Amino acid sequence: MKADAVVIGGGIIGCSTAYYLARAGLHPVLVEKRGIGEETSSACDGFIMLQTKKPGLPLRMAMSSARLYEHLSEELGYDIQYRRPGGLVLIETQEMKDIMEGVVKKQTEDGMDVEFIGNEKLRSLEPLVSEKIPAAVYSPMDGDVSPIYTTRAFAKKAAELGCDIRTGSAVTGISVQDGEVTAVITDKETIETGTVINCAGVWAPQIGKMMGLDIPIRPRRGHILVSEAVAPALKHEITDARYIAIKHNPSIMKKATDPTFKLGISLSMEQTENGNFLIGSAREFAGFDTDCRFDILKGISEYSTRFIPALRSVNMIRSFVGMRPYCEDGVPIIGPVSTVQGAYIAAGHEGDGIALAPITGRTIAEMVLHKETEFDMTPFSFDRFLK
Ligand SMILES: Cc1cc2nc3c(=O)[nH]c(=O)nc-3n(C[C@H](O)[C@H](O)[C@H](O)COP(=O)(O)OP(=O)(O)OC[C@H]3O[C@@H](n4cnc5c(N)ncnc54)[C@H](O)[C@@H]3O)c2cc1C
Repeated sequence: MKADAVVIGGGIIGCSTAYYLARAGLHPVLVEKRGIGEETSSACDGFIMLQTKKPGLPLRMAMSSARLYEHLSEELGYDIQYRRPGGLVLIETQEMKDIMEGVVKKQTEDGMDVEFIGNEKLRSLEPLVSEKIPAAVYSPMDGDVSPIYTTRAFAKKAAELGCDIRTGSAVTGISVQDGEVTAVITDKETIETGTVINCAGVWAPQIGKMMGLDIPIRPRRGHILVSEAVAPALKHEITDARYIAIKHNPSIMKKATDPTFKLGISLSMEQTENGNFLIGSAREFAGFDTDCRFDILKGISEYSTRFIPALRSVNMIRSFVGMRPYCEDGVPIIGPVSTVQGAYIAAGHEGDGIALAPITGRTIAEMVLHKETEFDMTPFSFDRFLK
């Protein structure tokens, strides 16, 4: 069989990429070894939270992606539950306030609408927050979405536009002749193509090896607690300053004295449409181990009640872990591979893959079609690892 392009991976990044390629008139094939959205893209939160993005290109891309999200339900013909309730970054200590001052300054320069607020305004916006939390940063630009609905919606629309979706099909090899991609080999068939896009998340390095590429992405595990469904109570997307500190600077945990900090625990909390709280989170490098750790779940419970005391009377009904695709320098790889003609990578989005999925898919489609992209993507190029 022949294809205009082969997208490897049916997570949110691969499905978005397949959709934007099909929307541009190509007939891609998407190959997924399991089912659509069965890995990281369904083991996560759905924050479209701009405040947690690194200032610069990640933040500017996230703002553009958020604008794409506003019309996606209509465009894809599927309610992906996108909302924009605003977000709060809670600040517990002076050390965290100092960190946030630097972050907020840069975010404002990038065009974010963010402001520091004190406890009184904080509790008027979000009455569940403890009176002991002195401050927060508020942005009305933060939103959320259902990650799995979005992934499925991209796949469904891509298929309607002519994308051939092959689930239960694992890529086992990529044929490269004279430095050019010529075919993708799966455990079922060989697909002739001159274009391959590696959207395999934490498995992107395995796909890279098939083309002789050493892609520095590894799993960064996260735990989430799920509560029983309760009446609507939480009005905003909630994180804390430690979440941003750990995400952007993993080494900060080493000098911490608070045991929860040492475990990489910080706060993330949202309430789903069904009423369940999703409470996280932790960041740790644990290979491909997807078992939940009791000490981390206990740490998340204890830490979250420091901010939201009412959680003490809510039952937790389950927990899960997901593997964030973490790239060595903390930002994703999005773009062509200069050493292998026809090869592209869209992977390594760490904790931002849901937020960045629309802009990533659209950018890759523009690159494949040699169109101008909204952003200069040089900082996210794979070439930064070839030097
Ligand atoms: C706890 C947690 C919370 C998070 N919260 C948020 C959040 O609030 N907001 C946000 O923006 N992001 C969040 N993220 C990050 C986000 O979930 C990821 O960045 C995103 O899901 C990555 O998508 P992906 O498509 O790259 O990877 P995946 O969803 O893992 O998709 C990769 C796919 O490739 C397939 N594959 C692998 N190898 C092969 C092969 N050989 N052949 C065929 N197919 C293959 C896999 O089966 C998989 O389906 C969170 C992550 C975690 C773990």
